[in-house]
Formats: sequence, structure tokens, C-alpha cells
Amino acid sequence: TDPTFAVEEVEVRGVAVKAFKNIPASVPALLAAGWERHGDGALEYLAYEDETYTYAEFTASVYRMARAMQDELGLRQCDRVAIAMRNYPELLMLVLAISSFGGVVVFVNAWWTTEELDYALRDSEAKVVFADGPRMKRLMPLRETLGLTLVGVRDGEGQTALDFSTLRGAAKSDQAPEVSIDTDDDFAVMYSSGTTGHPKGVVQTHRGAVNAVFSWLMQSVVAPLVDPPEPDAPEPPRPSALAVTPLFHVTATHPVFLLSLPAGAKITLMHKWDAEEAVRLIRDNSITRLLGVPTQSADLMEAAKRMGETLPSLDYIGAGGAKRPAAQVAQLAKTFPNAGVATGWGMTETNALGIGMIGDDYKARPDAAGKLHPPLQELSILDDEGNPVPNGTIGEIAVKGPQIMRCYLNKPEATAETVVDGWMRTGDLGTLDDEGYVTILDRKKNIIIRGGENIACLDVEGALHRHPDVLEAAAFSVPDERLGETVGAAVQLREGTTLTLADMAAFLDGHLAKFKIPAHLWVQHDVLIRGATDKIDRRAIRAACLAKQEAK
Ligand code: AMP
Repeated sequence: TDPTFAVEEVEVRGVAVKAFKNIPASVPALLAAGWERHGDGALEYLAYEDETYTYAEFTASVYRMARAMQDELGLRQCDRVAIAMRNYPELLMLVLAISSFGGVVVFVNAWWTTEELDYALRDSEAKVVFADGPRMKRLMPLRETLGLTLVGVRDGEGQTALDFSTLRGAAKSDQAPEVSIDTDDDFAVMYSSGTTGHPKGVVQTHRGAVNAVFSWLMQSVVAPLVDPPEPDAPEPPRPSALAVTPLFHVTATHPVFLLSLPAGAKITLMHKWDAEEAVRLIRDNSITRLLGVPTQSADLMEAAKRMGETLPSLDYIGAGGAKRPAAQVAQLAKTFPNAGVATGWGMTETNALGIGMIGDDYKARPDAAGKLHPPLQELSILDDEGNPVPNGTIGEIAVKGPQIMRCYLNKPEATAETVVDGWMRTGDLGTLDDEGYVTILDRKKNIIIRGGENIACLDVEGALHRHPDVLEAAAFSVPDERLGETVGAAVQLREGTTLTLADMAAFLDGHLAKFKIPAHLWVQHDVLIRGATDKIDRRAIRAACLAKQEAK
């Protein structure tokens, strides 16, 4: 690895472009290279409430944890190890510690119920889980049946296999474990609703994660690795990111956390989203970057206006994971005059990398999802037969490149349907125009994106079907001003029965994570609308329900 991250000119598909000469081969190499590049380690790397960690303290803690996992828990290269917690410094340390000895990180959604955890832990075969207090409570019932070793972190401490509190903190003697990690080895399993059906484990390789990070660096989303300033130019402020989305999501792990290592950025971690607290943290710590879901940038804008703040240190305010309403782009630029307003479209399956845009490009086309930069990015719009369509025609967006997942865990059929000849079919429908703008217009996949959190319709329907009075169920998105979309459901009930929204929510509690529980319910005794193949027609049901709501 070349810690200077030198850039050279190369030819890609007949076009000369700049590229990094040599990029780290794995996530632990990313940590090592960032460390080497960014000085003596005394630099502050991570802040959380009143705690701070220098690069040296952080890295030493990572290596100490990695050793303890090998020596005390007997973990070995390729073992899958799960992390189930809200945003804590330990989550970042654990991701790097697990990958330092060649383990595979299984990211577990912190809102999941015991049932949902059961599914993911069986599927991933992770036997060791690091968990905070609330997750520990939900994991306890699974301990014996799944043969789990649970390690408590923070408010989960003191209950379990390893005294985690002794692993935080630095000792110079803490060294990286000696393992050889191949760039095509698995780095992580992240659960996503994917393009169809129930949540699936997306298997990301080291190559995929590192390539996504260096692709963002090449696009200069963090100045100035690629085009360093003139020698006499004033030193730019150190990049400093507020981490606001849960770190079990690709929107936080990759473009915020992993990117911070080579970029030399400091991370200020929020345990839980609170817009006014975010305004205070940005103001008091001269934070330069915020990347969250669109709901968060909108919340931040409203909070800043209420508090009379313009947050002049902010030079980047990005959003991904869901579409940001076009009207917000100009409002954000006005509220935060120093910040480049940015958007990005990506998926767990693409290590979050996709397309994006910032500043004037975005202001010119606030309806678009991003601007394509060929030849480094390969994107195509396909018809139903998988053939590319002319510019301006709607089709399924497909992307290709080293950032694509290796597979869906244990689901060869779903993998084969999704990645065809190296092209990942995203399930998003849209257009590419002559200027390179990609606009997302619809979704082929049956998911709801609530404030950036993906929910499979099948997951919600499956839970509703367990209710003794429910004969048929359909879940779909309902427009929502703050969250973009919320969950709606239509159910056909057994004759003579009734179901209220509150009863339904009480029934689903424990089966489904709270964010998946429908916020709107339509009840009927007639059969739900069916399509040609006799399956429920979610689109038609949704249209009929929303029309009924409109008529009220
Ligand atoms: P996830 O794997 O949870 O990150 O979800 C990926 C999906 O979220 C994409 O396939 C899109 O459907 C949606 N998505 C992500 N970013 C955007 C965006 N900027 N605009 C519209 N939809 C988006």
C-alpha cells in the first residue's frame, strides 16, 4: 500500500483518467494506511459525548480487541462475528478488530426483535455477538438454542464471556494480528431487503468496500487527496464528519466511517439522531461534513432556522438512502450558505457506491439522483429483456464494477437473478439523459423506504398473516412529508371480525421491529385486488387505498 495515495493517469475503456496508483487491499490495510498517512497518531480521531480517542488510542484498542477475540474467544480467520448495538465508539473499533484478524463482520439492525435476530444469526451462523444492553436482552432467549457467546458492551457489560471494559484504551504493545487477507475475502454481511423478498445477507468483500472508498476520494468528496492545493494556499480545515445514521447501515459505515480513515477525517458520533443536538455539535466543533438520510438534512435545516444558526463550518451536506424532495435543495443551500448540497444513490449491494452530485450540478437538476462520470462508472438502463434502452427511456438501472457484492448469503438463486454477467440489477427504475443525469422514477422491487430504512413488503405481510382474523394482506408505501414514505397495509378480514390500527400494532409488536409496523391500515372484508397471476396486486391496492384516503 502506498500511504501517499499517489495519483496517475491511466486509460480506461479508451479514455485517459486519473486513478490511484495503489490502493489498500483490505479494510485493515485502510486503517494502517490512514494511520501512516495522518501523522504520529496524536491526532484526535473520534469523539463521542465527553470521550475522545486519538488515532493512536483508537488503533491500539482495535488491535487489543482483535487479539482478545483470537486468544480469549478462539475466533479465527473467516469466522463470522456479529455486532448488535446502537452507535458507540466500540462499534467502529469492533468492525476493524474483527476484520484485522480476517473475521467477517455481521451487522445486525439495532431495531430488530428477537425473532428477526434469530433469523439473521441462523442465516449468518455467527456464534459470537457483541451487544449493548437493549440488544443483549433480546439476544438472551436465543443464547442456548443458537449456542451463542454473547459479549456485553457499555450497558450490556458484566453479563458475559469477556470483560469488554478492559479492551478499551491504548497500550503501545498492541499490534495488528499477523494474518494475510486476500482482497477478495469477505469483509462483512449486511442485511438488506434487497430487490425481492425477505432481508438477505449482502456479502461484501474487502475489494468492494475499499474500491467504494477510493472512488469517493477520486471524486473529491473529501478535499483534497486528488488535487492537493498549491503550496502557498491556506491549509484547508481538517475534514470532520458528524456520524448521524446507524452504523449498521451502509450509508454510515462506508461513506462516513471507512472513508474517514484514508481521508484523515475526524468523526463525531451521535448515539441517536437529535437535530438540535446535531446543530450544537456542528457549531461547537467546527464540523465540516454531514451525510445522512434526506429526513436528517431536512430536520437539521428546520432546527438551524429555529436556533438562528447558519453553521458556517459545514462545507458538505449530503444525503443518500432515499430521494430528497427537489424543493429542499435550494432551501438547504440558502440555510447553509457555505455548504455544498450533495446527493448520492447507492445500495448495500454496491457498498453504497453509485452515482451522486453536488453544488451547481445538483441545483440545476434537483429532481435527479446523480450525474454519471464515465468511464470509471459503469451504469446502464435495461429493458425487461436485459437490453440497454436509448437515453431518456425508462428502464431498470444496472451497475457494474468492483464495488458490487460477492453474493447474497445462502441465496444462490437470488444472487443469480440480481447479478447477471457482472451487472447488478438494482430494482430501481429510471432514466439516463444525454447530459449524464440519472433520474429515479419508480421501483421494481417491493420495498418501502421509510426515512432511508428499507422495509420488505413481504416481511410486513408475513407478520400480518399471523393474525388469526387476517385472510390476506398487502403492504405498500404511503407518502409522508418528513420520512418520505411510511408503511401502509390493507387487510382482508374474516367475516364478522374487526381490527383497529392500535390492535394491529399491539399484535405486531414483538414480531416486527417498530419501524416496520404499519402507520396506516385499511380494513375490508372483500378480497384484495389480484393481478393476472392471482397474486395480490400491491400497486392497484395501494392506489385504491390512497384514493379512499384522499376522498375522506
Ligand atoms: P439500501 O441498500 O438500504 O441502501 O437501499 C438501497 C435503495 O434505496 C436503492 O436501491 C434505492 O431504491 C433507494 N435509494 C438510495 N438512494 C437513493 C436516492 N438518492 N434516491 C432515490 N432512491 C434511493
